[in-house]
Amino acid sequence: MSTYDGTLIIFSGPSGSGKDTVLNELLQKHDDVKLSISATTRKPRENEVDGVHYYFISKEDFEKKIDDNEMLEYAVYGDNYYGTPKAPVDKWLTEGKTVILKIEVQGAEKIRKMYPEALSIFIMPPSLAVLEKRIRGRQSEKEEDIIKRLSIAKNELERACEYDFAVINDDLDDAVEDVASIIKAEKLRYKNMKNIISEVKKDV
Ligand code: 5GP
Repeated sequence: MSTYDGTLIIFSGPSGSGKDTVLNELLQKHDDVKLSISATTRKPRENEVDGVHYYFISKEDFEKKIDDNEMLEYAVYGDNYYGTPKAPVDKWLTEGKTVILKIEVQGAEKIRKMYPEALSIFIMPPSLAVLEKRIRGRQSEKEEDIIKRLSIAKNELERACEYDFAVINDDLDDAVEDVASIIKAEKLRYKNMKNIISEVKKDV
């Protein structure tokens, strides 16, 4: 693990928790926050654009990236690979940026081991019924995939306790504000303020 000045944030939550919507809103208001774009072997949904929502690549290309050590972490979710390309995250962290990884629980576990100072946020629905309604409302998955996602969601909820913070996404604005507050508080930690404090102390 390299040393870095930036802030790394793990952002997880079950499928249908609304984490994409929360993050989109957050990024619109905070252009200093960078979102890592993952690679996946899943097929794009109707509204998804390659290089914006994901890098949609083949299983062969994904496995080559693993072999070439280009992935910071990766996991199998459902029947597909999902992974975080290493280079942009390294670059942003070295530049002192705040970087968000929108990843599932297995990836979160790996990142925590590599970056013990990473902050982790778990976003969750107000209930499983709401979660199911959101997944079905998307109309992008087959019944078999929906059932798989709901079962993964239950396991993921069991692991919410591994995260530093939990945010309930019932009202979108409230959830965005909660996440923004957590990030703000993290930036005010002594370890993240010590360069500024040293500067101020110079004049004493
Ligand atoms: P979806 O198919 O709904 O876009 O994503 C399925 C799950 O994979 C979500 O929980 C999402 O956060 C997670 N995911 C997306 N990108 C990555 C990644 O790069 N690494 C890992 N470990 N999980 C990811």
